[in-house]
Amino acid sequence: MSKALVIGSGFAGISAASHLAQKGYEVKVLEKNEGAGGRCSVWHKDGFTFDMGPSWYWMPDVFDRYFNQFGKQVQDYYHLDRLDPGYRVFFPEDLRVDIPGNEMELFQLFDRLEENGGNKLKIFLNNAKAKYEAGMNDLVHRPSISFTEFIDFSIVKQVPKLKLFTSLTAEISSLFTSEAARKLLEFPAYFLGALPKDTPALYSLMNYADLSLGTWYPQGGMHQIIKGMVSLAEELGVHFEYNAEVEKILVDENGRARGVSVNEITYEADLIVAGADYHHVESKLLEPKWRNYREGFWDKQVMAPSSLIYYLGIDKRLDNLLHHNLFFDEDIEQFGSDIYSKPQWPEKPLFYVCCPSKTDTSVAPKGKENVFLLMPLAPDLEDTESLREKRFKFMVDKLETITGTSVHDAISVKRGFCINDFKSRYHAYRGNAYGLANTLRQTAIFKPKMINKKVNNLFYTGQLTVPGPGVPPSLISGEVVANYISNKIPLTQKETYDALA
Ligand SMILES: Cc1cc2nc3c(=O)[nH]c(=O)nc-3n(C[C@H](O)[C@H](O)[C@H](O)COP(=O)(O)OP(=O)(O)OC[C@H]3O[C@@H](n4cnc5c(N)ncnc54)[C@H](O)[C@@H]3O)c2cc1C
Repeated sequence: MSKALVIGSGFAGISAASHLAQKGYEVKVLEKNEGAGGRCSVWHKDGFTFDMGPSWYWMPDVFDRYFNQFGKQVQDYYHLDRLDPGYRVFFPEDLRVDIPGNEMELFQLFDRLEENGGNKLKIFLNNAKAKYEAGMNDLVHRPSISFTEFIDFSIVKQVPKLKLFTSLTAEISSLFTSEAARKLLEFPAYFLGALPKDTPALYSLMNYADLSLGTWYPQGGMHQIIKGMVSLAEELGVHFEYNAEVEKILVDENGRARGVSVNEITYEADLIVAGADYHHVESKLLEPKWRNYREGFWDKQVMAPSSLIYYLGIDKRLDNLLHHNLFFDEDIEQFGSDIYSKPQWPEKPLFYVCCPSKTDTSVAPKGKENVFLLMPLAPDLEDTESLREKRFKFMVDKLETITGTSVHDAISVKRGFCINDFKSRYHAYRGNAYGLANTLRQTAIFKPKMINKKVNNLFYTGQLTVPGPGVPPSLISGEVVANYISNKIPLTQKETYDALA
């Protein structure tokens, strides 16, 4: 059988591996860390289970589709609940807004935020739905290797409604006048990649995902998705090796990748899919003559933020928090500038608190709370203990005010994770958390390519290539690269027969 090696066991790597195995390839995944999941790793400590990265389960249709493609269902692997309310937002002057899990209450909420807000939201979400359907059902499945893929009547027809050349801020402001409504709709852009004024209005599809499709939670935590995907991959015959850091991709004189070296052992392959951070693969695993991009290309890329994260075990229950809580109560313009325009550590950060023990008793011991603090931060800033601790104190002080109880002295588990950890644990370029910013010049055809133009059996997948950052896009990225490979390097007749048998 054709042998495929996949570097990295993040969502994209596992997805690529499973799709290739289903198509008949013999697949091995090599992962540098102790277990699968990449940015969706899990950390267990003193009875607490911490998801180390993603916590928002959005776009459930993408997960359904993923498992269905293999004749399975999400519920074969984990139990999913819709959160209602989806999340709580803390605004200045003690304004708190809970985002309801059903549309009727959502429209009533927007009616309270501003005159005719519910009707405006209906219009906004209808437009966002059209973008979601065009984007998620079609555009994200194109490998974006050539412009010609997009010269297609069905796409040209959709261009006006995609609003590629309008900013998200402009689209939101054209309908909504209240600060609270605008900020609520801009939040995904702020946290996921760029200033809303630099984000194409296309990305209001995220608002549709958030407000209409809802926020879900897999019982046991987000890592349950990874566990499910690994089980499925193993059922398909994929073999995983952990603590197996790829040190080099071996390319012969004719520009064919022969395999990789791990701990000085050579693993041979007919093709390689790199699911590790794109920049790491190019700059550390490949000789300069085989790279797609020079360092100058990467210097020009706009990265999505990194993050300062704390995983906390709290020895008491905390009031006034939901599962997801966003603190938007400081100067949002200043915060945007600290992250995107003039990168520096924010003095008064906006931040996010995830408290999954509010909905899941399995992630914290009885009577205790599992708390995850995340503060977006510009990538590649100096990262020291004292810089971290100052913001830690700021966030926990605020938690004390909100919860009306002392928190600092109830912390029994504490682990920080920031730029340096992203670099060392995931080989993340400039310590990024979510890949490239969602700007027009970094969308689809403009993203780093899935193919290596010089090594014809080397491919890339993951959040730094198409379709982009986030769990659902990473799942799709693995599928797109596997489909591209099987079209480009078809199996022999016998291999196809064996795969079908
Ligand atoms: C803190 C945080 C919060 C997030 N929140 C959300 C959220 O709520 N919802 C959402 O949808 N998305 C969220 N995201 C984004 C989402 O997690 C990522 O887009 C997605 O997990 C990326 O998957 P990936 O497979 O591309 O990369 P990764 O998960 O980074 O996988 C790459 C893998 O390659 C491995 N690797 C690297 N170098 C080597 C090597 N030389 N040899 C072998 N293995 C190697 C790494 O260890 C890693 O396991 C969040 C991300 C972070 C960091």
